[in-house]
Amino acid sequence: MTSHALHTLTLGERPAGRTLLTADWLLAWREGGHRLVPGGEMVMEDGAVIYAGPCFRGEVARRIDFGAALISPGLIDLDALSDLDTYTLVLDNQPGWARGRIWPRSYVERGPYEMYSQEELAFQKKFAFGLQLLNGVTTAAPVASLYYREWAETVAEFDAAADAAGELGLRVFLSPAYRSGGIVLEAPGKMVPVFDEARGLAGLNDAISFIERQQGRHGGLVNGMLAPDRVETCTLELLQRTMAAAGDLDCQVRLHMAQGPAELETMRALHGATGPGWMASHGLLGERLIAPHATYATDEDLRLYAINGVSIAHSPMVSARMGSVLNSFALCRRLGINIGMATDTAPPDMLMNLLMGLVTCRISEKKSDAVLSADLFNAATLGGAKALGRTDIGRLCSGTRADVAVFRLDDLYMTPSVDPITTLVLGGSGKVTQAVFVDGRISMLEGKLSGFDMHAARKQAQSQFEGLLAKYPERSWEHPPVEALFSPGYSLWTDKGDKEC
Ligand SMILES: [Zn+2]
Repeated sequence: MTSHALHTLTLGERPAGRTLLTADWLLAWREGGHRLVPGGEMVMEDGAVIYAGPCFRGEVARRIDFGAALISPGLIDLDALSDLDTYTLVLDNQPGWARGRIWPRSYVERGPYEMYSQEELAFQKKFAFGLQLLNGVTTAAPVASLYYREWAETVAEFDAAADAAGELGLRVFLSPAYRSGGIVLEAPGKMVPVFDEARGLAGLNDAISFIERQQGRHGGLVNGMLAPDRVETCTLELLQRTMAAAGDLDCQVRLHMAQGPAELETMRALHGATGPGWMASHGLLGERLIAPHATYATDEDLRLYAINGVSIAHSPMVSARMGSVLNSFALCRRLGINIGMATDTAPPDMLMNLLMGLVTCRISEKKSDAVLSADLFNAATLGGAKALGRTDIGRLCSGTRADVAVFRLDDLYMTPSVDPITTLVLGGSGKVTQAVFVDGRISMLEGKLSGFDMHAARKQAQSQFEGLLAKYPERSWEHPPVEALFSPGYSLWTDKGDKEC
């Protein structure tokens, strides 16, 4: 049972005065780590936590008791799904290059185009931000596919995304992704990188001016982060300028590296090195760098991450569904590498990713105690904050921002347990998220958001996705019809015989 006071709060607003939150469990920060406080109390005022611990002795304007729940720091998603995931189309329809995931030469010559309108691009980000809040994520660094784009992401859609984050109440780290190269399919399975340096540098300049303009907007919810697309589609000059700009702007950089066999092959052909090895040889690895997904990192790559302070963004769900794992979460921690968590693709469910991270690490290490639930929970809170260079999020203690997720522990599908962290990680579903506060403002309550109807948005997402699907033949090898590109899970039975139905 939750106390009545919860429903007196106005969705989307920061309650006036001091608000005390209590529940069967509170995860509070003390002396260098999270601590579980039975029946703990957390008090927030003006967007900041002023107390988190066993018992608050001051006056408060209201007291909200969540009962059988955990009051947790909000989760941090370093590679947060921000579009309608298209990998779902090729999950059972491989290879990806034959299904529109690599531009064929004929599509490049025809002239690539934006497959969504500006409104659709803006909508899908807002919808994805809503999903983050529904899953207990309070800080998101959005990522999206570039396959269906004319080239890279645009300032216009990110201006809209910054406003969407402000409207919904989600903390974001972002700027439009850019790249100087693309991969072109010249023949079945034959992928060749093609570069346009000027276009990459123009993208970087757009991202820099976006950050200069947007940094700190919406009461500090909007933060800059440079996002060059992936190591094999960037030139050395683009990355050198990116790292220099990050220093000037004092922001982080996210760059996908060591994440797949095609990347390894391209990097070997172009530079005779792995992505991390190439970056290190030019002095470009450092603490500002967040590197998804490291599933193809060599021992030497991981050593370079460790000595240079690179953070890994770990998305066990997307990696596992493509047949790879981080080798391993436990080893990276032993090496001293900071790991943050990420959803990356559908479903954008962080708790599901924590379970997947636990399972894949134990498989990878062939040990049932290779990693513990708390290790994953630390990565989704403290690890994410460290990757973003912040100490005022990912933990609840006096002086941090009031970014909070409340997870139910009495959900029917959750196993009864004495330990809320084990229960939540093993439960593997963000659907138990009851409430989310960001900067002290209630951004999500029982599936509802401020000024945005997620059920109506879900319908819109379906029709938008179908519109994109219809365009797939244009950028697929030899342009087969949609039905030939994507087979359903089972063959269809549509013959109705003689009967009129
Ligand atoms: Zn990713």
